[in-house]
Amino acid sequence: MRAGICTGVTKIFTFHCDVDWMKRLNIAGIVMGRHIMFAVPADQISSWLFRHELQHAYQQIEHGRFRFYAKYFYYSLRYGLRNNPYEIEAYARQSIPLTESEETALWKLREDSQK
Ligand SMILES: [Zn+2]
Repeated sequence: MRAGICTGVTKIFTFHCDVDWMKRLNIAGIVMGRHIMFAVPADQISSWLFRHELQHAYQQIEHGRFRFYAKYFYYSLRYGLRNNPYEIEAYARQSIPLTESEETALWKLREDSQK
C-alpha cells in the first residue's frame, strides 16, 4: 500500500491513514477539521485509537470547530496535553466499544485501502 492513497469517507469526515509526516512527528492520530488522520496503515488502526480520534471529532461537532480548537489550545497550555480535559475525555472513552456505524467506517477504511 502506498502512503497517501489510503482514505475513507463518511458523511461528515474524511479519513487518512499511513500519513508520513505524522510518523516523523510521532503523532498516532489527529483530527484537523473534517479530516481524521492516522500515522499507521488502515489495518493497523486499533479500535481504541479510532475511537479516541472519533471522540475529538465529536467534541468538535459538539462545541463548534473554532471553539474546540481555541479551547483545546488554551487547555493544553494551562493543563498540559495529557491533562487537557478534551484528552481526558477521549482517553476515558477510547475503551468504549465502537458503535455499528463507527465499526462500519473503520471496516470501510480498511476495505478502501486494499484497492
Ligand atoms: Zn487525543
